[in-house]
Amino acid sequence: MPPRPTIEWQTNGVCNYDCSYCIQSRKYRQGHPSDADIDRFLAFFADLPGVWEIKMSGGEPFAFRGFMERIIPGLATLPHRVSVLTNFSAPLGVLRRFVALVGDRLEVVSVSLHREYVDVGAFVAKARTFRSWLRPETAFVVNNVLVPGTVAELAAVKAEVEAAGLKYFPQVMKTKHGVHAYDAEELPLVQAITGACPTAREANVAPSYRGRRCWAGTAYFVLDQFGRAFACRTAKRFGEGYLGNVLDGTFRLAPGPAVCRYDICPCTVPANRGIVELGA
Ligand code: SF4
Ligand code: SF4
Repeated sequence: MPPRPTIEWQTNGVCNYDCSYCIQSRKYRQGHPSDADIDRFLAFFADLPGVWEIKMSGGEPFAFRGFMERIIPGLATLPHRVSVLTNFSAPLGVLRRFVALVGDRLEVVSVSLHREYVDVGAFVAKARTFRSWLRPETAFVVNNVLVPGTVAELAAVKAEVEAAGLKYFPQVMKTKHGVHAYDAEELPLVQAITGACPTAREANVAPSYRGRRCWAGTAYFVLDQFGRAFACRTAKRFGEGYLGNVLDGTFRLAPGPAVCRYDICPCTVPANRGIVELGA
């Protein structure tokens, strides 16, 4: 699969939840760009050659007022594809306006089910309503972190989501340095939910692609709320792969693909967009 140019943009740090298992520390779950910086981000996207998928996350994007007031109306004027990862706490009226503004360029909506904050039945009912507003071409996914200590309850959650005709996407719990080591009781339950050897379309098990050719930095990069761009999430974690800042004009794409040197690829976006070459 040829690489599909993709940007993962952390539009803001603020979040209206405080999940006990959040991988982002409270210290980093803060802040958002100013109106002037949003305009600079939009100008940067407008100048990008070709069509990119801009996949936004936070914090929680909808918890930042500027997301619906400025970012989405601005992106709606550009040719790029738009995706979002959200905790799905925004009211349906706001979500309806989001769908209407983005229109047929809406690529993927990933909604994360956080049972510490929502009732599963109400979440699923809301998701069904929202799904009915999307074109069939727009992917809609319900993410669920396999939170340690709760995994025995999650087969029923998966069944409830799937019974509603929705895609359930399990994610193993990540830690600062890798993946949570589930105990002997929970590990088989995790594997029953994810499958023994899932593809990146079936589950996020944060595999290693060390040694594979990857277009991170060339056809894919991650962008934070301060404008800093990195080749990928893992590179950023190690303080590597810095591509410059899109707000001060220092951003440059890497010259070409490189061989992955990391033991974890924590997000399925590179695998599912052809950024990392997985072969047949
Ligand atoms: S909704 Fe997401 S970003 Fe917010 S606290 Fe929960 S896991 Fe963290
Ligand atoms: S395979 Fe994943 S971890 Fe490795 S360079 Fe590519 S995006 Fe980064």
